[in-house]
Amino acid sequence: LLLDNVSYNYPGSTHGLHDVSLDVRTGELVAVIGPSGSGKSTLLKLVSGLETGHSGRIALDGADMSRTPVHQRHIGMVFQSYALFPHLSVLDNVAYGLKLRKVAVAERRRRAQELLGIVGLGEYAQRAVAQLSGGQQQRVALARALAIDPRALLLDEPLSALDASVRGHLRDQIRSIQQRFNATTLLVTHDQEEALVMADRVTMLKDGRLLQIATPRDIYENPASRAVAEFVGLSTIL
Ligand code: ATP
Ligand code: MG
Repeated sequence: LLLDNVSYNYPGSTHGLHDVSLDVRTGELVAVIGPSGSGKSTLLKLVSGLETGHSGRIALDGADMSRTPVHQRHIGMVFQSYALFPHLSVLDNVAYGLKLRKVAVAERRRRAQELLGIVGLGEYAQRAVAQLSGGQQQRVALARALAIDPRALLLDEPLSALDASVRGHLRDQIRSIQQRFNATTLLVTHDQEEALVMADRVTMLKDGRLLQIATPRDIYENPASRAVAEFVGLSTIL
């Protein structure tokens, strides 16, 4: 996943992203940190196509995303709020993207059941999503994102709504599944520790600009600026 000099302003606003360049290697997990309003979600929305009209280039496997319709981008997304379909069963939630892509019923059930097994929810296929805990719902959302065999996985604060006890376990589970699928991943998080523990590299945004991208150790030990040092250092104070 390649971003080359990407800029974007929300209509009538100076907020957005400014000259962001970023190269996420295949199978790599890059954590995106930064203060509230720094442009983290905007970055994911531009990659997924939820917001359009940027300058610069966003490319996935060599293909320019601005020329690719949203449903053909093969991007899996997970949001803080789960965003499951409440009227569908767990299985149908996971199979949803496959249905959109006209995969045959038997094959999409098989695939959805397989993904539910991988996230540890094989027994829950026929449940209503409202009967699941927050952590379980987020695992359904992860299974749904992976079911379409995404070329990029975009996770926007996937753990922020969960209790600390669930969060630690799910952190490990997301990382191991992400590695198993060799998924090229952007993980937005408010939690510096989560970024340092989960990511291959960490990048920090501030005011829509990318301040640094480095390994967790490097961003911690060799912050490129005072802004990065102060932000990353928070995790040792709290
Ligand atoms: P948070 O950590 O609070 O989720 P964020 O880093 O994800 O913050 P963004 O949602 O990307 O921040 O927002 C970046 C900037 O763009 C903010 O100043 C925000 O107010 C502004 N913004 C976001 N969405 C819109 C919109 N639809 N229209 C106008 N401005 C917007
Ligand atoms: Mg956000």
